[in-house]
This record gives sequence, C-alpha cells and structure tokens, in this order.
Amino acid sequence: MPAARRRLLPPASVLALAAALALLPSLAACTGEPEQQADAPADPAAGERSSDPAANRIEADVHALADDRMQGRETGTPGYDLAAAHVAARFAAAGLQPGGDGGGWYQRVPLLRAQLDPTGAGLVVSLGGRSVALAFQEQFVPLANFNRADAAVTDAPAVFVGHAVHAPALGHDDFAGVDLRGKVAVMFGGAPERFEDTRRAFHSALSEKLGNVAARGAVGVVLVGTARDEAATPWERTAAGWDRPTMRLRDADGRGIDTWPQLQVVARVSAAAADILFAGGERSAAQLADTARRGDLRAFDMPVRLSLAVRTQVEPLESRNVVGLLPGRDPALAGEYVVHSAHLDHVGLGIEVDGDGIYNGAIDNALGVAILAEAAREMASAAEAPRRPQLFVALTGEEQGLLGSQWFARHPPIARGRLVANINVDMPVLTAPSRDVVAIGMQHSTLEQAVKAAARDIGVMVSPDPFPEETAFVRSDQYAFVREGIPAIYLDAGVEPAEEGRDPKVSATWFMRNCYHRPCDQADLPIHYDDAARLARLVARLGHGIGEADAAPQWKTGDFFGERFGGRADAR
Ligand SMILES: [Zn+2]
Repeated sequence: MPAARRRLLPPASVLALAAALALLPSLAACTGEPEQQADAPADPAAGERSSDPAANRIEADVHALADDRMQGRETGTPGYDLAAAHVAARFAAAGLQPGGDGGGWYQRVPLLRAQLDPTGAGLVVSLGGRSVALAFQEQFVPLANFNRADAAVTDAPAVFVGHAVHAPALGHDDFAGVDLRGKVAVMFGGAPERFEDTRRAFHSALSEKLGNVAARGAVGVVLVGTARDEAATPWERTAAGWDRPTMRLRDADGRGIDTWPQLQVVARVSAAAADILFAGGERSAAQLADTARRGDLRAFDMPVRLSLAVRTQVEPLESRNVVGLLPGRDPALAGEYVVHSAHLDHVGLGIEVDGDGIYNGAIDNALGVAILAEAAREMASAAEAPRRPQLFVALTGEEQGLLGSQWFARHPPIARGRLVANINVDMPVLTAPSRDVVAIGMQHSTLEQAVKAAARDIGVMVSPDPFPEETAFVRSDQYAFVREGIPAIYLDAGVEPAEEGRDPKVSATWFMRNCYHRPCDQADLPIHYDDAARLARLVARLGHGIGEADAAPQWKTGDFFGERFGGRADAR
C-alpha cells in the first residue's frame, strides 16, 4: 500500500487501550518515532500454530516472502525476482497453468527508474527586485523529471489555482479567470471538503492535478504543504524520501507514461516555508488553505515570480508480474476472465531502525500474496472449475504508484476476450481476531451482491469500509482496473472483534503508527492465520460465484466510476 494511506484512530484511543492491556515485549522494539511509542496490544494466541492446513500454508509463505533473503522485495531488485520465483513455484504447485508472456509465468513490465541529483535542485522566489532561495530538503524537494536530465523554469509568473480541481458537475473550477500558459501553477493537495468521499478522492489524485495544469499550458508546479497534510505525514519524512528512486511505466518508444513532458519542474514546499511564496499578497498560506478547503477560493495571479530547477538520472528497468491461469469449463465464457490480485513488491532497504534496515513487508503485502496463492490452490483443487477462467496475479510496482496493475489492466496477457472483474487483497492487518471481512468499494457495482453471497456461504460477516474518508478504494491496485472500466473490489481485514477487549481497529491503528513501511512489518508480528485462511476461502468463493453467474459484474446505474470509466471496458 503506498504511503498516502493513513487509516488511523485518534491517538488517545490507541494509547488508552494499549495501556489497559498487558504489553507484548517483543514488539516494543518496533517503535520508530518517540512520540509514537505505544506498545502493541497483547496477543495471548500469538505463536500458537493453527490446526487448519490452509492457515499453515499461508504462514509458511509469509515467512518465505518476508525473509531477509528477499531484501524487502523492491521493484527491479534481485530480492523482488527471488520472491517472484517463489510465487511462480507456488502457483505451479497449486495446479495453475502459466498465464504470462509466451506461455511462461511472468508478464514483463517495462519501467523507468529516476534518481534525483540534489546538486541541480533549485527554487527561487523573487518579488520587487529581491530574491529568496529556498533550502533543498529543509524547505523544498523537487520531483524527478522523467523526460530530461536537466530541467528549469526561469523567472516565470506564478498563478495560484487552489486545489487545481476542475469539476464542472460539482460547480467547481479552480481555473476560472486565469491563464496558465508559460506560468508556474501553485496549488494545495486534496480537494474541497464539501465533495463526497469518492469524488474528493478522484480529484485529490496528483496525476489528475498535473494533467489539468499541463493541459492548460503551465510549465511548472509548486505543491504547497499545509498544516493538515503535515499532521498526517510530517515534512521531515516526505523530504527524507528524496533519495528514494521513483518509477513510471515505459512506452514502446522508451518514454515514461503519465509524465507530462511540458511540465519542466514539479516541486513540493513545506508548510513552514509556504508564506515565502505568498509574499506580497493579502492572505497567508494558512488562510488560503482554509478558504480552499471550504471550496470558495478564486484563482489569482501571484505577485511573486518563480525559478525552479531539477536534475534527474533516468534509466530503463524491467520487472515482472507473476501470472497463473485456471481455465474455465464453459467454452462460451472462455473470453471473460476474473482477475485475482495482490501486490508482491514492497519498499526494499531503507534507513535503519534499531539496527534493522530491511523493510520485509510481512503484512504489506507478503500476507496478501500468501492469501492469493491459497485461494488459487483452493479453486484449482476443487472438483470442477467455474465457468469463467480465473487469473491469479502477483503484481509489481504497487508501491511506486500501481504500475504493475496498470500495465496488466491495459495489456492483459490473454489471447482474446476481456477482464470482467478484479478481486484485490492488500495489507490485511490481521493482528487481532475478527468476525468479519471488510469489502472496500463493493457499493459501486454488482460485486456487492456477489461478495455478500460468498460471505454467507463461508459464514463470515461483510462490513463496509470503516474509514470511507480515507478512500482506500483509489489507493491500491484495484483502482488500476477500475480506471480501465473493470468492476473491482478490495477485500481487507475485519473490524468486528471476535474476542472481548481486543479491537481489530485498535490493532490496525497500532500497526499503521508503528510498523507501516518500517522494518518491524515483519513475520514475527502476531498475525492471525486462521483469519487469513478465512479470507482466502472468501476470495476463492467470490471468484467461483463470479465465475458461475450468468452475467458478468456490472457497475451500478449512475455510479461515479462506472460513468467515468465504464465505457473503456465496453469499447474493447
Ligand atoms: Zn505499502
């Protein structure tokens, strides 16, 4: 799961619960930042082996994929390729057929990898003959430019465009009355508060904003941090990530996909430095952020002029999705594929925490891949295959922006036919027993009835997304399928306690605060493998249900995603 996601309970409730419980000493060492030092809720069942063989298989896979040998499974590294080979072997043992390129297990995913060179980074604000140069990392960080090694914008006019949202259906246009040609667009992240969750999530995506300003002729972008943004992700953490490589998909001509060549420089500026940009204006950055959030801000030409520069090293790279196929039994439906997915990549090696610099990614997402492999095994070993064929895909490049799923959804390795549904599992935080499964995004399509029927069959409750405002539906691989018009669902860990006093939401919040994208997301966490096996059974049952139904899944009438993207699937 990429870093934008932050599903958290208020800190007070976590601390109160953690304090009320006995502590688990082996986890106390996980804490990275001093202000977040809450010990993990205790788990009396931790370490007990399940009597369910499915649970034991999932546990073994988590240990294999989150092993130090895999070096954190970063896209494009030998550790990732080792993990991919493990999954291919598991798919073969499960009884799947190879479903990748040329009759093999792998689908090639062409990428570009970019590395920022701070010696070429600059951001200068000029007003009335005076200039202020912002400090790299402390006050600003440019994003990589995938199209040229050295890029710059010199002394350009600046236009403030609020959230850079163009939403005529909602009566909102941040570009009304301004001309962006040859200028730098200065903007906040996010979208107005009055937008309902789905639309706010769609319009909050950085790619939508960059596409909007590029189409209107802007040559540069400054993304201004707000106090709210930095309460969720501190500037220090954002800025410290400047030396991490970033990636894009590569097209047949070797160019980056979704890179907007006309935008020379895109830079982030910290909330603390924001007022330097708004010098000479009437309102402070904080006042503008409040007004923008209320949705009644008008774009304006800024008094300052801006110079921006970035230097980037870009190289081609290749990674792979692992693809297994279970053929369907009905020749009439042989071209209608159900896709099961989980991302295999994680974030690799990083800053050491308590002497450990390997970010193993046990829950994010070795666990999801292990559940995927078990679901494949269950479907492949059933007496009879469903009518529709099923593809099982362990995806690359998720942490880099859903790249492997985007490539798969656009170029599925199938001879003919189409993808009719996606079932995705990502980072189920199964560290406290639950009675339910969360089905994120089910309300958008007929997959709602399908998942409820499957859950009834295996005897588990289905809960809606407990944190709809976090819009996880657009933040993991299922969204790459949604953008191609394919109905999708994201199955996640439950939230209803199975044992009194042990709240899965509290456990999940503890994980997000302490181990998410940190070295302590590793196989010694108290993962409830019986719940993982139940999730695998649900995935298999849902795949079976979709596979047997007379009609393929459909978007619901009037659904936002169906109206925006549904035509793409129909056009194929
Ligand atoms: Zn992640």
